[in-house]
Amino acid sequence: MHEFPHADHVDARAVVRAISPDEPVILNRPHAAARAARFFAEKFPGKSLYAVKANPSPELLQILWDNGVRHYDVASIAEVRLVRQTLPEATLCFMHPVKTPRAIREAYFDHGCKTFSLDTVEELEKIVDACRDEAGNPASDLRLLVRLRVSSEFSELSLASKFGVDLVDAPLLLQQTRQHCDWLGVCFHVGSQAMTPFAYVQALERVRAAVAQASVVIDVVDVGGGFPSAYPDMDPPPLEDYFEVIARHFENLPIAYNAELWCEPGRALCAEYSSIIVRVEKRRGDELYINDGAYGALFDAAHVDWRFPVRALEDDLHEGLTEFSFYGPTCDDADFMKGPFLLPADIQSGDFIEIGMLGAYGAAMKTGFNGFGNAEQIVVADEPMASLYDGSRVRPAADNVVSLR
Ligand SMILES: *Cc1c(COP(=O)(O)O)cnc(C)c1O
Repeated sequence: MHEFPHADHVDARAVVRAISPDEPVILNRPHAAARAARFFAEKFPGKSLYAVKANPSPELLQILWDNGVRHYDVASIAEVRLVRQTLPEATLCFMHPVKTPRAIREAYFDHGCKTFSLDTVEELEKIVDACRDEAGNPASDLRLLVRLRVSSEFSELSLASKFGVDLVDAPLLLQQTRQHCDWLGVCFHVGSQAMTPFAYVQALERVRAAVAQASVVIDVVDVGGGFPSAYPDMDPPPLEDYFEVIARHFENLPIAYNAELWCEPGRALCAEYSSIIVRVEKRRGDELYINDGAYGALFDAAHVDWRFPVRALEDDLHEGLTEFSFYGPTCDDADFMKGPFLLPADIQSGDFIEIGMLGAYGAAMKTGFNGFGNAEQIVVADEPMASLYDGSRVRPAADNVVSLR
């Protein structure tokens, strides 16, 4: 509260009392995003690139920048333009392994983006060609990262099937890429919400195998995203454990002595930034019809049964907690969130609920389908419903880390 005197309200209850909102309201907590950014800037043993897709809000980008995040992982030309416009001095890294030639060219020549990822020789040739000058000379300052396919088995959301070169093909692609740049990296993504640091160990072992076979000099190892946040039934180990395990395995790789270590957190930097206030419009048994859903900020609650934390915002509910599922506001049957969400048994239509931890892949997913996209944004000063950064997690002795080896 001290750091952000410009909060509009203290918390969700104060918002409900003040405006009794007819449409969903997104509550933003700048202090929580700032704290996450400082944590990564201070404790990750390398550079942290913010994965913009998790939440592209310009206000959030500015908060992350103000708190030490200098590099931004962008995946589309629209994200390139947005970050460049919001943060003129940010370093842009175009980390989608399948780009259009025009997007590459605009990013390189108009927005100073020199860093690109790839997972095929076709993409390598595309990047090299798109960055030639008018005389046809190839660019001499490209920084290229080869994306390796790794297992997603330790993560809640897989990112293993779509992108990444297989280990058998990686050495040749690394050698070919090395011929086009003075600065070569390897990157991967272990999947989102990795519940154990071991996810990164198995991936770094693949990096080791690929690099050893390729016999090329590697200038950066980028361990991608996947760093977890806290949700009901998903209580990950402290992030320090992840950092420690990654640093230890990075140091043992056969790479340049001055090689850099990067990561690309999305979720971990912004999950705590936002929550949403919804209203119960109808109750049918243990199903609550609320005014946001699958086409709004609750995409993951509907499509992958993600359980976000909830709390009732009324003072007159006295019965014990019981399990509810939610229907969203659109006319689509698929606008359904199984939960279970634990709320007082006497909750009824007209009551307000706060749904927490929606800063990542929540607020960013809202569409206007069926006319239900509106949501006012309000800054609040209270704590997020869960936090990996508020000091509430005492770090256990390193036993759990050691046992992973
Ligand atoms: C989505 C994505 C991220 C962020 O992942 P989180 O699980 O949110 O940390 C990072 N890098 C790439 C290439 C991505 O596609």
